[in-house]
Amino acid sequence: MEWTPEQDRLRHEYEELARSTVALRAAECYQAGTLDHHSWETLTECGFWRLAVPAKYGGAGTSYWDFVAALEGLASGAGDLGFLLSVIAHSGTLRGLVEFGTDCQRRRHLEPLMAKAIASTAITEASGGSDVARIRTGAVAVANGYAITGQKCHITNAPIADIALLLARVAGLGRRDITIFVIERTTPGIEMGPPEPMLGNRTSPTGSITLQNAVIAADEILGSIGNGLEPMYSVISHDRVLYGIVAAAFIDPLVDQVLRFVEQRQAFRSPIAEHQYVQGRVTDLVILRDTIRWVSYGALGRLLTGHPEASASCSVAKLAACEGLCQATQHVMAIFGHIGYMAGPISRAAADALGTRIAGGTAEMQRKNIFHQVVGRPAKAQEATCHTGFAQT
Ligand SMILES: Cc1cc2nc3c(=O)[nH]c(=O)nc-3n(C[C@H](O)[C@H](O)[C@H](O)COP(=O)(O)OP(=O)(O)OC[C@H]3O[C@@H](n4cnc5c(N)ncnc54)[C@H](O)[C@@H]3O)c2cc1C
Repeated sequence: MEWTPEQDRLRHEYEELARSTVALRAAECYQAGTLDHHSWETLTECGFWRLAVPAKYGGAGTSYWDFVAALEGLASGAGDLGFLLSVIAHSGTLRGLVEFGTDCQRRRHLEPLMAKAIASTAITEASGGSDVARIRTGAVAVANGYAITGQKCHITNAPIADIALLLARVAGLGRRDITIFVIERTTPGIEMGPPEPMLGNRTSPTGSITLQNAVIAADEILGSIGNGLEPMYSVISHDRVLYGIVAAAFIDPLVDQVLRFVEQRQAFRSPIAEHQYVQGRVTDLVILRDTIRWVSYGALGRLLTGHPEASASCSVAKLAACEGLCQATQHVMAIFGHIGYMAGPISRAAADALGTRIAGGTAEMQRKNIFHQVVGRPAKAQEATCHTGFAQT
């Protein structure tokens, strides 16, 4: 897999852009606990989101790999994992609308999402995120659509989102009742909560969405009524593989920093680069990065071509990415010693990395999904398959 010259150009362009915006503002935004709106707007003005949307829907994308090349550049230059989690969440909604939206939904939502609007994907509730079958948010048919009541929590971008893909159960449908609704912040009865206090990812505002008899038009159902799991799993698989693309690119500059540091830092009358245990950490860092990268490219290729095991491959990529990111940031912190432990980019990255183990489905859920697909065990009922780890058969 090689980037085309144009994709290489995009990768470098967005890396430079991220260095000159996101990276410079990361510490300040982390301190304030806010999304870097300035950098988000800069990305938007440069046409970043348009790369994710085919030209026939108003975007500029000719291949999804163009967007991925730009995202990789962004992740390499940004130095802010939280910002990148918000980017992944937004691009998941774009992808869901492109793949499963009606013409009317695409016309209505894609243009704002390629411009200023910010998006979320809302599945998790207080009762738990892994077992999607337990969601309680309910939709009842009314004259002008569906009245939705319930609460989602821990939703990336929710405090600032204009639009969300939201999973709810439609009353009276029986076992296959889980449905995706495209909801808008301005709808009466919808309230976005404030950012939740978290250990890391403070630049990715994460919070609740509360719905109290919020009436959503029937034509805002994404996919078909009662069949929300399949498109939602597709969005989740997409997000999972982007964790891999982002994680490998995020590690790139860490490798460069570590290589410079181990040559400069002296201990026992030599640069620490000459000590074998240090060399082991540097080597592991490179192995982690390259493993994540190539597994993710492979998984994305499978996802984009509709390979039957794409969902499992995306889980492998997500698992490798998030476990690898945690290990990689620990290696960097260890090599930098107390400098790495002090408040700053290295300790921030280590705290942020921990959150990626949970967001997008925990490691256990990735393993369950891989097992389910590899064993090929048929699902007997919706209840047996609906957890964030499993593909619907
Ligand atoms: C930074 C961040 C961003 C997030 N963004 C979003 C978002 O945008 N949208 C959204 O919907 N959610 C989001 N979440 C929530 C996330 O998806 C859930 O936290 C996650 O799915 C796990 O759910 P839970 O925390 O309720 O844990 P639970 O589901 O209650 O699980 C608790 C523990 O039990 C384990 N477990 C559960 N079932 C099994 C099993 N069958 N076998 C083995 N182990 C099991 C889990 O792996 C976990 O370790 C985000 C979370 C974080 C940290």
